[in-house]
Amino acid sequence: MVKTIIELRRLRKEYFNVVALADVDLSIPAGEIYGLIGPNGAGKTTLLRMLATTLEPTAGRVLLEGKDLWDDPPGVRSVIGFMPDFFQVYRDLTVREFLTFFALAHGLRGAKLAHRVTDVIGLIGLEEKADELCKGLSRGMVQRLGLGRAVLHNPRLLLLDEPASGLDPLARARLFAVLQRVRAEGATIIISSHILAELSGLCTSVGIMHQGVFLESGPTEEVIRRLLPRRKLQLRVLEGSQTPAANVLEKHENVSMIQTDTTWLRFEFDGTDETVSELLDQLIAAGVRVVLLQESASSLHEAYISIAERNHHAVHA
Ligand code: ATP
Repeated sequence: MVKTIIELRRLRKEYFNVVALADVDLSIPAGEIYGLIGPNGAGKTTLLRMLATTLEPTAGRVLLEGKDLWDDPPGVRSVIGFMPDFFQVYRDLTVREFLTFFALAHGLRGAKLAHRVTDVIGLIGLEEKADELCKGLSRGMVQRLGLGRAVLHNPRLLLLDEPASGLDPLARARLFAVLQRVRAEGATIIISSHILAELSGLCTSVGIMHQGVFLESGPTEEVIRRLLPRRKLQLRVLEGSQTPAANVLEKHENVSMIQTDTTWLRFEFDGTDETVSELLDQLIAAGVRVVLLQESASSLHEAYISIAERNHHAVHA
């Protein structure tokens, strides 16, 4: 049976007259990388800070593995790692000194401390920078160092507030590779972003937030299907294969809105992953030389923007 790690019950946060989180009920299964997706002001930071016990709810409860967070905040913090959206690194400490400082704060000492710091430096891929000052690190490296700080005590739940913002694709890929390793070691991860496409390849499940409520939550594939019932696919073929590819697509009952250019064919597809796979078989059987068949990432982003806008109008109507 899948264990629930986090359960929100009618969780509410008000700041004066702003309702940042509006009576949210939500369960997050253990072992997931759960993406909290929402535009600026959706309530992501507010929720993460409440999960990290650095902000008290106005009403409602948060259960961590069945226990109320507010019964024992220090106990909770010993099993949670939190990387806020903005954090400072001590510029004149080396990477190793920086991590050692926080390992001491977690109560590690002696050989155990030295081993854990070395392990974490390996985990975040900063071996070559271990004895260099933090002020010489790139933004991507600083983000990985912040992540290293958050996992020093082997937390069961890791909370990350927009860790990928401002990173180039390579730095983001490196950060995500570290997160996959942290998950493989048994942690559950909750990570926020305002870009669904940025996280869709990483997260096993996602929640779409808007103005303090969840519009959607569940396994990533299912949420994407609900947002985008007609998926937008793109097919790249070798030169000379466009005509046979277009012939197969035109005859296919799930395909519509075909657009072609020199090597790409873009179309809408009304079907499951299984039917996409059958379409690929048909293309290959017809002699089409396929290079790539993929979902269009920009369409994902558009679908998310449109659902956010629809709800914005509904709230303000
Ligand atoms: P972002 O992507 O910009 O970080 P977010 O999804 O993290 O946004 P929050 O920072 O949680 O959103 O903000 C949710 C709402 O609560 C917003 O309307 C924000 O203006 C408001 N808010 C957040 N913190 C405070 C505060 N300390 N005092 C008053 N209002 C606040």
